Amino acid sequence: MNFDLPKTEEKVLKFWKEKKIFEKLRKKNQGKKRWSFLDGPITANNPMGVHHAWGRTYKDMFQRYKAMQGFDQRYQNGFDCQGLWVEVEVEKEKGFKNKKDIESYGIGKFVKDCKKRVLKYSKIQTEQSIRLGQWMDWESSYYTMSDENNYAIWNFLKKCQEKKLLYKGKDVVPWCPRCGTAISQHEILTEEYKELTHESVFVKLPVKSRKNTYFLVWTTTPWTLPANVALAVHPDLYYVEIRDKNGDIFILLKEKAKIIPGGKIIKKFSGKKLKGSKYQGMFDELSEVKKNLKEEEHKVILWKDVTKEEGTGIVHIAPGCGREDFQLSKEFNLPVVNPTDEESKYKKGFGFLEGKMVSEVRSLIFDNLKKKNILFKIENYTHRYPTCWRCKEELIFRLVDEWYISMEKLRKPLMGVAKKIKWIPSFGLDRELDWLKNMDDWLISKKRYWGLTLPVYECDKCGNFEVIGSKEELKERGVSGWEKFEGHSPHKPWVDEVKIKCSKCGNIISRIPDVGNPWLDAGIVPFSTMSYFSDKDYWKKWFPAELICESFPGQFKNWFYAIIVMSTVLENTNPIKTIFGYASVRDEKGEEMHKSKGNAIWFDDAVEKIGADSMRWMYARQNPAYNLNFGYKTAEEIKRKLLTLYNVFTFLNTYVDKKEFFRVDLPKSESILDKWIISRFNNLIEKVTKSLNKYNTSLATLAIEKFFINDLSLWYVRRSRKRFHPGHPERKKAIETLYYILLNLTKLIAPTMPFFAEERYQNLKINNMPESVHLFDWQEANKEKIDKELEKKMAEVREIVTQALARRAEAGIKVRQPLAELKIKNLWIKRSERLPEGLQLKNEKELLELIKEEVNIKKIIFSSKIKKEIELDTRITKELEKEGERREIIRNIKALRKKLNLTPKVIITNIISTASIITDEDFFQEVGAKNFKKVEKESEMEVDIKKEIELGKEKHYIGIKK
Ligand SMILES: [Zn+2]
Ligand SMILES: [Zn+2]
Repeated sequence: MNFDLPKTEEKVLKFWKEKKIFEKLRKKNQGKKRWSFLDGPITANNPMGVHHAWGRTYKDMFQRYKAMQGFDQRYQNGFDCQGLWVEVEVEKEKGFKNKKDIESYGIGKFVKDCKKRVLKYSKIQTEQSIRLGQWMDWESSYYTMSDENNYAIWNFLKKCQEKKLLYKGKDVVPWCPRCGTAISQHEILTEEYKELTHESVFVKLPVKSRKNTYFLVWTTTPWTLPANVALAVHPDLYYVEIRDKNGDIFILLKEKAKIIPGGKIIKKFSGKKLKGSKYQGMFDELSEVKKNLKEEEHKVILWKDVTKEEGTGIVHIAPGCGREDFQLSKEFNLPVVNPTDEESKYKKGFGFLEGKMVSEVRSLIFDNLKKKNILFKIENYTHRYPTCWRCKEELIFRLVDEWYISMEKLRKPLMGVAKKIKWIPSFGLDRELDWLKNMDDWLISKKRYWGLTLPVYECDKCGNFEVIGSKEELKERGVSGWEKFEGHSPHKPWVDEVKIKCSKCGNIISRIPDVGNPWLDAGIVPFSTMSYFSDKDYWKKWFPAELICESFPGQFKNWFYAIIVMSTVLENTNPIKTIFGYASVRDEKGEEMHKSKGNAIWFDDAVEKIGADSMRWMYARQNPAYNLNFGYKTAEEIKRKLLTLYNVFTFLNTYVDKKEFFRVDLPKSESILDKWIISRFNNLIEKVTKSLNKYNTSLATLAIEKFFINDLSLWYVRRSRKRFHPGHPERKKAIETLYYILLNLTKLIAPTMPFFAEERYQNLKINNMPESVHLFDWQEANKEKIDKELEKKMAEVREIVTQALARRAEAGIKVRQPLAELKIKNLWIKRSERLPEGLQLKNEKELLELIKEEVNIKKIIFSSKIKKEIELDTRITKELEKEGERREIIRNIKALRKKLNLTPKVIITNIISTASIITDEDFFQEVGAKNFKKVEKESEMEVDIKKEIELGKEKHYIGIKK
């Protein structure tokens, strides 16, 4: 047997598969009380990285735990299939540069390619999850691209329309020039803001009906200048007029006066005074600007959001290119110049800019301004600027028609629903509420191809729009194209064959070309995957789900948000009882893992190297509120811990060849060590159960770890070693106890390390025990066996030992060398005087024995007169020295036995040495020998193996004859 986790795991996987253990588990719990888990869909777009394994470990752990508690479960895994992330990968594969390439390739073909990619990676991810040990009903995984899921969203959107929540709005939205689509507010996470340096520009705009007087304006996005219609100033801040050395007069914020070198302030006034001032526009000669401005003049408006921090205190307003600008245009009735098309190029009517990408016109615009003699200066400016989460292109802001779900009426109910949910970690609720308080309406449309087709049919004649709520409704309302669509999934381009009649004017109308925001796809799953639309009784059984568990960064604005919105609209209730969130996986140095940075670790590599169980253990013991730094060095530490546990199992196997003393019931041992470890173990069961019931995985896992390292390995086995030797009077009880602990420990670790638990369980299994450790019921703690007083005393014993051993180390005396006495200040002995006599006294004697053995001393003396807690007599008499030598000999014989691979059961015929040794029964029992023979010279030794040893200052030889 080797401690080779990956190899063991492969064997266990085979065993589970052959014996159909998972199927047997499900059958065992079928029809019993239910525990409903809802799987958040994994994006089926790439093979899994190690970060995916974190969440999957939790999911599997909780489901396994609940299964052992006898709960019936659905075991449904989910794949997220539709959306830009898949499109971008397919585009890369095909070498497409933009949307035109997709359209000339054919939308139908492109959509099929996207589907294919999803199917390919969902299969790979399934295999990987199985390798991780995750038990799911893989055959019935849900796919968000399924007809069922898509039509469920249609149904939801129809409800939204009935509730008057759905609307088409013009708004300025973040827009990716490459992807050619709007990016919703919640898709722009903090990490999408990059520190970028751009050339900013100061422009001087002539004030009308005044000579040589200019408003000084500053912008970091010169491409928006042609869309300028107004300037904004703060009503209450002070502005100045400054004359420069050429006699030109500039108007700007008082605090910014030093922008004009050598200028002289000639006037100071509050911003209010500027209200309505007219100025000469920069690009009034462009036909599109002229057209949109009509007869309006460029003017100054008052706006309280103007700040002193940046620029000149005079803000350039372009309602076609900025969100706040657009709001202001509604408020002040400003004209809107909308310069860009879908590809982020200037539209017709923009003269020298027409057809140019907005990202390429910076110097063209500068030159134009220079020619007009209104460019004041150019300056580099570094700021945080949003980029596309998919392709990393710098976003622009564009005025577009998009579809929205209005949040004004929903905001309050959403907050109410969020509060009904238990959030782990608890800060989750605040973060969600914060988002719900501040979010805009939900932008649900995307001008793309692979996704939910929004079932909105808009009439270009009368402006009416209708929402189709199901496939059946579409068939009923369809006036043409059904036969072309039939047999296809409701995707582009097939679904668009079907036309319906406008119910207001009778015009034949088409679906809008947009697809849906992918969070609609994932948001509907508490309904679509539980047959809400087809089998309400089934749905009622499983809804709301008990638990979801996902990585929280991002999800407050995404999945958590989407399920809350959809559940509020459909049922006005919470879709889950508990949201368990966990942080992110980072690399060993705590840096974000990125494919491009080269520090990402693929799941396959990791599992092959360190095994699934050590990964699972690492994840389970982590506090989910904090990022986890994953790396092979950390994994090595985890492996060492697990090896400690493994060695305890091996210890039992080494001392017991047959399963002679293996028994299922609780051993009745009088030994203080046995009683103590049984007490500790039952305590552990209680603690683990309580923690897992509260989904506190790290508390449960660390408690188990502390138990098997600190209590079981470093104390119980260490102090009991002798008791396992053949012939020892306590041998039977010791084996029974260790067996009881290890057998039941396999059940306790089964949810976390299913492979390790299974493999070790198979090794311990006797009689009519279940076929697999995973078929056991979750054990309950035997509270009668918990002895808090004994545990407390043992803790004190161990504390004394630690101190005494530290004293030994300070004095440079090896533990093998016996010492005369240890003085202890009265500790628990004092307290125990108050306890009933009898058993207690026996316990205490045994406890003192443990100290004596572990510290290797002859006598313990209680004294209240010593200064420290303990005092160790470090003098070595001749006699003690002799005894130390005996220990040295015993140790060497043991080492020789090991070299000959002798198991503890083999009794040696003869020990032969040139040294004289005091031999007694204890001696022979400990070294496992029948006889001892002293010889004069090394040459007289007839042995199988021998070695030189040093006793005092003399050289001697010791050997073994089998
Ligand atoms: Zn993009
Ligand atoms: Zn109509």
